[in-house]
Amino acid sequence: MGKKEPSLMDKLVSLSKRRGFIFQSSEIYGGINSCYDYGPLGVELKNNIKMLWWKSMVYERSDIEGIDASILMHPRVWEASGHVEGFTDPLVDCKVCKMRFRADQIDTEKGCPNCGGELTEPRMFNLMFKTFMGPVEDEAHVVYLRPETAQGIYVNFHNVRESTRKKLPFGIAQIGKAFRNEITPGNFIFRTREFEQMEMQYFVKPGTDEEWFEYWKEQRFQWYERLGIRRENLRFHQHGEDELAHYAKAAFDIEYQFPFGWSEIEGIHNRTDFDLSRHQQYSGKDLRYYDQESGEKYVPYVVETSTGVDRLLLTTLVDAYTEEPERVVLKFKPYLAPIKAAIFPLVKRDGMPEIAHKIEEDLRKHFKVFYDESGSVGRRYRRQDEVGTPYCITVDSQTLEDGTVTIRDRDTMQQERISKDKIYEFLKDRVTI
Ligand code: ATP
Repeated sequence: MGKKEPSLMDKLVSLSKRRGFIFQSSEIYGGINSCYDYGPLGVELKNNIKMLWWKSMVYERSDIEGIDASILMHPRVWEASGHVEGFTDPLVDCKVCKMRFRADQIDTEKGCPNCGGELTEPRMFNLMFKTFMGPVEDEAHVVYLRPETAQGIYVNFHNVRESTRKKLPFGIAQIGKAFRNEITPGNFIFRTREFEQMEMQYFVKPGTDEEWFEYWKEQRFQWYERLGIRRENLRFHQHGEDELAHYAKAAFDIEYQFPFGWSEIEGIHNRTDFDLSRHQQYSGKDLRYYDQESGEKYVPYVVETSTGVDRLLLTTLVDAYTEEPERVVLKFKPYLAPIKAAIFPLVKRDGMPEIAHKIEEDLRKHFKVFYDESGSVGRRYRRQDEVGTPYCITVDSQTLEDGTVTIRDRDTMQQERISKDKIYEFLKDRVTI
C-alpha cells in the first residue's frame, strides 16, 4: 500500500516550520497547546498584512484615525461591555473519553463526536483570561486580558474626537493582541487563545447606521482582492436571529473556504449605541456627541469591522499555496511576500559575488532581500518560489560586460534583462504596499 498523501494543512504546517513562517511555541518543552511563534518569514508576512490593512483604513482615508490602547483595562469596562456576564460558551465533556466540546458546535443529541459516549450537561464557561493587578491575589484586584480590542476604542471615543477635531461620521482603527480562553482551539493558527485583531469602529449618526453597514460590508469584501484572495473562495454569511451577539442589530461574516470548510475570517457588525450607552451608564460620563449641524446631542451608533491577523495569515498561506509539476510556489501578492527579491551570482567567481553583494546592500535600504550563492540557480529559484519571493535577480557573465542582470518573475518564470542601475526602480512600485 502506498503512503497516504499529506493533507494541504499538513503540508502548510510542515512548510511553515521548515522555512521559518510558524513554529510551535516553547517547542523544546514539548510545545503548549494552541500557542505559536512567528519565525523570520512569518513575522514579515504578518507585518505586511497589518500594514496593508492600516494603509487602507488609516492612511488612505481622512475619516479614520488609529490608536493603540493598553491590553489591561479597568475591570468595569468588561462589566459594561457585557463580557463578565455574557462572554461565555457552552462547554460539554465526554464522560467516557474526557474530550471537551463547545455544545453549539456539535450535535449533542448524538453523544460524543469522538467516541459516541455520553456527554455532560452544558456548563457556561467564561472565555476571559483573569489575572491580578499588583501583589494581592483577591477579587478586588482582578483584571482581564482583553478579549477584543474594540473596548479600547469605545473608551477613547471622546479623546480621539477632541484631539483630532473629527466630526461624525468617523472611525477609529486599532491593531492589537486579544486573548480568549477558547474551549476548542485548533486548525493550526485559525483558532488560538492569544491572537491579534484588526478592528475598526465607525461612529455614525443614528438612523444612518444601516447605510454605513452596507457600505462597510462592501468595502471589506472588496479589500480581500488587495490581500490577493481568490474571489471564489470568499462568501458572506448573514447571522440569523439566534446567532446575533448581545450587542448586534445586524451581522455579516466574511467566510473563506479553508481545507476544513467555510469559516469566518471577518465580522461586520452593527453594534448600535449599545457600547457607548453602556459605558455612559457604568462610568457616569456623558458620552453623547454634540451635532453642530442639527443642534442635537445623541449617542452615536457604531458599525464595526473586525478581523484577525493570524487568521488572515493562514488565509493568505492557503490561498497562495500552489503545487506545479516541478515546484511548490506561494503566489502571494508581491507586496505581501516576506522577501521581495533574492540576489544570486551565477557562479562564485569572476567578481560576480561582489557585484551581487553590492546590489543586495543597495536594496536592503528599502526592502527585505536575500542573497544566495549556494547550489544551482535552478535550485535557488525553487527555494525562493516556496516562500513566495516574487523576483530573483541573477548576476552573470553578461553583467561583467554590459552591467545588465536578469530579473526572473516568480509566477511566469520569465526572465528579462535590465540594467543593474534600474533594479530599484523596477521593484519599487511592484513590491511596495
Ligand atoms: P467564534 O464564534 O468563531 O468563536 P467570534 O464570532 O466570537 O468567533 P469575533 O468576536 O467576531 O469572533 O472576532 C472577530 C475576528 O477575530 C474573527 O473574524 C477572527 O478573524 C478573529 N478571531 C476571533 N477569535 C479568534 C481566535 N480564537 N483565534 C484567532 N482569531 C480569532
